[in-house]
Amino acid sequence: MWLRCGCPSRSVSTSLRVLASPLRVLGLRRCNTAAFMPESAGFGGVSGRSGLQEFSVSSSESFWAAVARHRLSWIRPFTAVQDCDLSRGRIRWFEGGKLNVSVNCLDRHVHTCPDRVALIWERDEKGTEVRYTYRELLEMTCRVGNLLRRHGVKKGDCVTIYMPACPLAVASMLACARIGATHNVVFAGFSAEALADRIRDAQSSTVITVNQGVRGGKILELKKTVDIAVQSCPTVQQVFVAMRTDNPVAMTARDIAIEEEMLKEDVVCEPATMNSEDTLFLLYTSGSTGKPKGLVHTQAGYLLYAAFTHRYVFNYHDGDVFGCMADIGWITGHSYAVYGPLANGGTTVLFESTPIYPDPGRYWDMVERLQINQFYGAPTAIRLLLRFGNEWVNKYDRSSLKTLGSVGEPINTEAWEWYYRVVGEERCPVVDTWWQTETGGICIAPKPSDPDAEIVPGMAMRPFFGIKPVLMDTEGKVISGNDTSGALCLAQPWPGMARTIHNDHQRFIETYCQPYPGYFFTGDGAYRSVEGYYQITGRLDDVINVSGHRIGTAEIEDAVNQCPAVAESAVIGYSHDIKGQGVFAFVVLKKNVDVEEADLSRQLNDIVSEKIAKHACPDFIQFVQRLPKTRSGKIMRRVLRKVVELDLDSLGDLSTLDDPAAVQEIIQGHRELLSK
Ligand code: AMP
Repeated sequence: MWLRCGCPSRSVSTSLRVLASPLRVLGLRRCNTAAFMPESAGFGGVSGRSGLQEFSVSSSESFWAAVARHRLSWIRPFTAVQDCDLSRGRIRWFEGGKLNVSVNCLDRHVHTCPDRVALIWERDEKGTEVRYTYRELLEMTCRVGNLLRRHGVKKGDCVTIYMPACPLAVASMLACARIGATHNVVFAGFSAEALADRIRDAQSSTVITVNQGVRGGKILELKKTVDIAVQSCPTVQQVFVAMRTDNPVAMTARDIAIEEEMLKEDVVCEPATMNSEDTLFLLYTSGSTGKPKGLVHTQAGYLLYAAFTHRYVFNYHDGDVFGCMADIGWITGHSYAVYGPLANGGTTVLFESTPIYPDPGRYWDMVERLQINQFYGAPTAIRLLLRFGNEWVNKYDRSSLKTLGSVGEPINTEAWEWYYRVVGEERCPVVDTWWQTETGGICIAPKPSDPDAEIVPGMAMRPFFGIKPVLMDTEGKVISGNDTSGALCLAQPWPGMARTIHNDHQRFIETYCQPYPGYFFTGDGAYRSVEGYYQITGRLDDVINVSGHRIGTAEIEDAVNQCPAVAESAVIGYSHDIKGQGVFAFVVLKKNVDVEEADLSRQLNDIVSEKIAKHACPDFIQFVQRLPKTRSGKIMRRVLRKVVELDLDSLGDLSTLDDPAAVQEIIQGHRELLSK
C-alpha cells in the first residue's frame, strides 16, 4: 500500500544539470528519504530522519496534513489540520473530515489483497493457532456490526467488551467502529466490581463476553464475572456471549449467544460516516485518585498515529508478521495488536497465553512457528524468561526476527542486554518504547533513526515525528541543556493524544494541562543525557507499575480500607526483580481487632482481588500501630519508601512529622517482617 521509492525525475535531472557531483549525493539522499517516507517529497527538500523530525515539529500542520491525506482513506477530506489549545485542554485534529475506521482497517485491504492474513490467533493451546484473512475478518466484523444494530446499538452508544485476546474481540471492536458505536474494552483480569465501575461510568447498555477464558491452561469464569458485575449496572440491557470453551454457562433473558445470532446476519454492513473527532473508544486507566479515568480517543487522529508509529518505530513492511504480546484490554493491545497493524494492512498476532505456558520456550516457539518479524513484549516477561536460561531461547529458530520492542515500564540493562544478545542474536535493534494510554501511540523510542545511529540500552531516547518533549523544573520552567532531569511534558499536540476523560473534562485539564500551562504533563519524570537522549525515570505521582500494569496506590488503599478490621492504610510501590514494582501495604488495624495477622493478610488479598484484580494484590502487608504523618495529617510516603528500600540513611527531615517515634516502630516491624 505504500508508495514505491521514486525520485521525481525532473528534480534529479535539474540538480544534475546544475552541479553534478554534490547534488547527485543530495539527490540520492532525497530519494532515500522519499523511499523512507513518501510524503516527504512534498516537504521542500527535507532529508534524513533528523531533518524529518525537525520538520514534523516545526511544520507540524504541513507534516500531519500530508501524512493524514496519504495514509487514511477519507469519505470527505478534512478542512482544518488542527485546532488545539493545550492550556484549555482543547484538542482537535482533521476537522471537517469524515471516515470510517473499520473501512480503513479492513475494506481497503480486502480490495487489494483479500486473502492476506490479518490475524493469527495464537490460542492458549500451543500449536493450535488459527489464521483469519482480511476477507474473513471483514465478514465477521460485518456480522457483529449488523447484530449490534439489530439489537438497537446506535451511533454514539457504548459497548463494553470483556474478552480475552481473540478474533471475535477484534471483530467486536471493529464492528463498533463500523456502526459508530464507542467501545470500552475492559481487561479480562479485572474483577466484577472493577468491571461494573467501568460499565457504569461508560453508561454501556451492551456487553460482549465469552463463556470462559483460557489462560496458561486454566479456566477463567468470565461470563460469571459479567453476571455479578451487571447486577449493579442498571444500564445494561443485553450481554452477548461467545463460546471459547465447550462448557455451557447459565444464560438469562438478557444473554444472547453471539455466534448463533451472527450466522443469521449478512456479511455486508454499511459503514457509518464518522467525523474525525467522534469518539472511537474509551479506555480506563488508573490515576492518582481512587477512581479510574476513562480516556477518550477519537477516530482519525488516533488511527493515523497508531498506524504511523507502527510503521516507523518497528520498521514494519508489507508481508511482515507483527507479534505484540499485550492483551487487547490495554492501550498497547489497542494500538499495536489491533489498530496500527490492521490500518497498515499487516498481519498481527493475538496472543492468548502466557510466556511460560506450557514452558518458558513459548514465545520463541511461537516466533519460529509463526515466523514473527517484529516482537513486542514487556520487560517483566523478559526478566522472568531470562531466569530460565538461554536454552529455552536457543532451542528455536529466531532468524525471522528483525526488530524487538519493549513497552510498559523501564527495561533494566540486564534484561535489555539479554533481549538484544540472546533473543535477537545482536542482529535486531531493541526499541524501548515510551508512551501511555493518554498518548495513544509511541512518543519516544530509539527508532526511527538514521541507519547507523546508536541505540543505548534501557533508554527510549528519541522523540517520534511530531513529538517535542521538554523537561520542567520544580518551578514550572522549561529546563534547557543536557545531562539534566525534570518532569516530562510534551510541548505540542499530536494527533494520537487522548481528547478528554469521559464525563470529566475538568479532571483532564487538571491532570494534564494545568500542572504546566501550555504543555501536556505526562506524570513521568525523565533524564536527558549529555547526548540529548531521553530516559524515563518513573512516575511522579502516586501511580505504580506492576508488571507493566498501571495502578493507583489510592485505588488499592480504597479496597484495603473496606475491610472492617482496617482503620487506615498506605500503599507504596517498591522495586521488584521480575514485576518491576511490587505492592507494599502498611495497614493500621482498628482498636480491639483480634484476628491472626496471616488470616487478615489473606482477607485483604481477597478483597483487593475482588475489588480490583489479582495483579493489584499486595506482595507484603505490614501491620503497624500508626502511619508516619505530617502535622497536617498527610501520610509521609517518602519515609515509607525509604524504609522498604532499606535506605535508612536517607529518611530525610523527620521534624515535620507529627510523631517521629512512629518511624522507629515501622523500621522495627519491617525488620521483623523480613526475618520471617
Ligand atoms: P499505561 O498507560 O498503562 O500504558 O502506562 C503508562 C506508563 O507506563 C507511563 O506513564 C510510564 O510510567 C510507564 N512506561 C511506559 N513505557 C515505558 C518505558 N518504555 N519506559 C519507562 N516507563 C514506561
